Amino acid sequence: MKEKKKSDLAVLLDYTGSYRGLTYLGLGLSAVAMVLGMAPYICVWLAARDLIAVAPEWTKAVSVGRYGWLAFAFAFGGIAVYFCALMCTHLAAFRTASNLRKAGMAHLMKAPLGFFDSNASGLLRNRLDGAASETETLLAHNLADIVGTVAMLVAMIVLMFVFDWRMGGACLLAAVISIASLCVMMTGKNAGLMAEYQAAQDVMSKAGTEYVRGIPVVKVFQQTVDSFRAFRQAIDDYSDKAEHYQADVCRTPQSVNLTFTEGAFVFLVPAALLLAPGALNGGGFAKFVTNFAFYAVFSAIISTALAKIMFAASGTMLASTAMGRFGAVMAAPTLEVAKHPLTPNGNRIEFRDVSFTYEGAELPALDHVSFTVEPGSTVALVGPSGGGKTTAASLIPRFWDATSGAVLVGGVDVRKVDPHALMDRIAFVFQNSRLFKASILENVRAARPDATREQVLRALEAAQCGDILEKLPNGVDTVIGTSGTYLSGGEQQRVALARAILKDAPIIVLDEATAFADPENEALIQKAFKRLTVGRTVVMIAHRLSTVVGADDIIVLDAGRVAERGTHDELVKADGLYARMWADYNQAVRWKISSEGEVA
Ligand code: ADP
Ligand code: MG
Repeated sequence: MKEKKKSDLAVLLDYTGSYRGLTYLGLGLSAVAMVLGMAPYICVWLAARDLIAVAPEWTKAVSVGRYGWLAFAFAFGGIAVYFCALMCTHLAAFRTASNLRKAGMAHLMKAPLGFFDSNASGLLRNRLDGAASETETLLAHNLADIVGTVAMLVAMIVLMFVFDWRMGGACLLAAVISIASLCVMMTGKNAGLMAEYQAAQDVMSKAGTEYVRGIPVVKVFQQTVDSFRAFRQAIDDYSDKAEHYQADVCRTPQSVNLTFTEGAFVFLVPAALLLAPGALNGGGFAKFVTNFAFYAVFSAIISTALAKIMFAASGTMLASTAMGRFGAVMAAPTLEVAKHPLTPNGNRIEFRDVSFTYEGAELPALDHVSFTVEPGSTVALVGPSGGGKTTAASLIPRFWDATSGAVLVGGVDVRKVDPHALMDRIAFVFQNSRLFKASILENVRAARPDATREQVLRALEAAQCGDILEKLPNGVDTVIGTSGTYLSGGEQQRVALARAILKDAPIIVLDEATAFADPENEALIQKAFKRLTVGRTVVMIAHRLSTVVGADDIIVLDAGRVAERGTHDELVKADGLYARMWADYNQAVRWKISSEGEVA
């Protein structure tokens, strides 16, 4: 565990970049500041020694004033140096956090778009941002405190033995006992228990998130927290582990530790009592008293120093988990970009023996799929849910890369095309088209940032969005998602279509949404589709088979394989899967019409 922590710190230090030297300078200054901070105590001790030596003729102690000024100078110097130290560590820490964020963002930019489907971008941003700012405390404060305090402890131990090793040893004994009790608590078998306890806490917080997500279900079905057995179980488990950890692992060592850090002088007093008679007889009693005073003060500092190191050490643990989260972001897959990109020759799309398996999935989502889409034609992908339609469509703009085989656009493997050039060529509208929290204008303009307002309005009109703009308070400038301006699924789909129309790309990839289209929306969406697809190369996933009837070619995907292909008429004649789907579809339409007739 210790080794891992170290490597986290090493990784973190790598991100200090050109500020690495400044970090070390800050740490060094912090050590100097802490040692300087001890000097005033020595000055006070020296003054006290001189005073006692000349007592009661105080005027003879000529150097007392000088010690006073020296003490002041050291105290002031210590503070000034500490200030400089923190300045260095803060500058380095802010730069490091910014380097971490930049590195994380740069890495995520290289991730395939499909990655963001299963890893919400907000969550990723949170993870990255949180991790970066948590390392800030470690670099800016904790490390400097640890280094400074360790320097102080070392200096103190040296000092203790310089003045009177016997009383020094008595003070140190208490410190050694408290450190030993901490070691017992945190190492060996007990370290495993601590890990278990922390793991239980993690499980509980995850189960808690699941529970909150499931609240709608809980409410709808009138359930209680007990019905979320996983959550309940996680709480009980955590509670057991926490109790066990506290009662059986921490109680004794922590009590010992606190006793000896707070009562650091317990051994000092008996030691002094033992030494006093000798000092009295030997004649060095004045020196003995001042030494005792010195140790009485210093033993208190030891406990503060230990507490400080403990506190700072918890900062390294926090930073260690933060680096773990950062590592998870950096572990995101990346898309390879061709060194010498090729330009597609035309817009013919070809799937050449393509297979694709999602990470962690057992079965391939696409299994040796081959088909072509001639330039200017429309090919429809249909089939049962889970057949692989969305997966196939998302391979064209490289949301994912094929596991084997190749997807070609204009005769060139999409992996060899420059990603920007590829994106320029393809407009896609996906089932769950997301709109940004921005005005409709900006939402549509995202497809082509240099488009004029006029062009955006024309695209919206072509996408049959007139009624949407009319009902919104500020028309096209209304910001979506604010004060009750939400769009229905069908309306969002139309705005997404406007986006695609504005992009004016030669290839269109459409994943048609059905779930939320009411009849009125459906008619408008169909109209918008027609405007968008005319004269272009289109791959469309259609759920309403009425849309498919006119397609030049229909590919039926079932369980990742091409089950059938042909035109509508051919497939109906073939009397296979498509013919059955067509019959079901017509049945459903008839049922809908008749039930609507009843209502009327
Ligand atoms: P369709 O669009 O035809 O309904 P999909 O292409 O969405 O089918 O899914 C094909 C298969 O791949 C399904 O078995 C589905 O569970 C799986 N799948 C889809 N998306 C993911 C994903 N992000 N991660 C893992 N498996 C996925
Ligand atoms: Mg789908």
